[in-house]
Amino acid sequence: MTTRTVLVTGGARGIGKGMAKSFLEAGHRVMIADLPAGGDWRYRLGSDSEMADAVEELGASGEVRCTPVDVTDSAACEHAVKATVDAFGGLDVLVNNAGVIDSGPIEEFGEAQWDGIFAVNVKGVFLMTRAAVVNLRASADAAVVNTASIAGKRGSARLAAYCGSKWAVIGITQSFAQELAPDGIRVNALCPGMVGTAMWHDHLMANQGDPAFQKRTSDIMPLGRPQTVEDMGEAAVYLATARNVTGIALNVAGGYEMH
Ligand code: NAD
Repeated sequence: MTTRTVLVTGGARGIGKGMAKSFLEAGHRVMIADLPAGGDWRYRLGSDSEMADAVEELGASGEVRCTPVDVTDSAACEHAVKATVDAFGGLDVLVNNAGVIDSGPIEEFGEAQWDGIFAVNVKGVFLMTRAAVVNLRASADAAVVNTASIAGKRGSARLAAYCGSKWAVIGITQSFAQELAPDGIRVNALCPGMVGTAMWHDHLMANQGDPAFQKRTSDIMPLGRPQTVEDMGEAAVYLATARNVTGIALNVAGGYEMH
């Protein structure tokens, strides 16, 4: 197996950290990129200290570093790519995983929340991929993995902004897959089902505790349990390494979403 360099946005915690661990365990080098200072959102976002903790924890699994990024800022995206290339000599796999959620009835949903979701979840994918594309073209084995969602395949009440943003990620994935195929760059989306991260515990089911999350998700999942960050890591490594797969949006959702 060839060792490749992987840049994971939103990698300080949750699904991104799980993906980083899986790439490290598969023998790759990883740069974690996340917000440096908390972020102004409905619930607390990642931070410098959370990134540093992740690097310390994941260091046992392989070569990992971190760099700050705000994926809504094109200069910051370029800086994160440069930091990766400076640290490891190139960039082979970009994982656009940073994301935010908010929910609420249409008449109460603020423009700032709508714009904020689209800035991170949609524009962030464009800005990071644009910043990385020169280096990806220079790689002999390049891939992009975009974290979409099952919310990108089925709409939900009170989640129009989030669902709309994840549908957009799937459309962008297909478009980049077409555009970058002649360069040998594969572009795929990963659609997690329900993973007990901050999105659930600090927002969607805030203050209800893990047993409530486990019960609610287990009751509706055909395979009988919620998804884990390890499930997402396994799928991200697959999408980054599958040689003849591009433009797909892979559900990792225990059978909850099949389209
Ligand atoms: P999370 O909140 O733990 O992780 C999201 C990470 O993105 C955080 O570390 C946060 O700091 C970072 N981030 C947010 N805005 C950023 C910005 N502007 N620049 C850089 N980093 C930023 O939640 P998670 O569940 O691990 O989410 C990871 C991805 O998975 C998201 O794209 C989310 O939409 C998607 N997803 C999650 C679930 C789930 O059930 N948890 C399901 C489907 C999809």
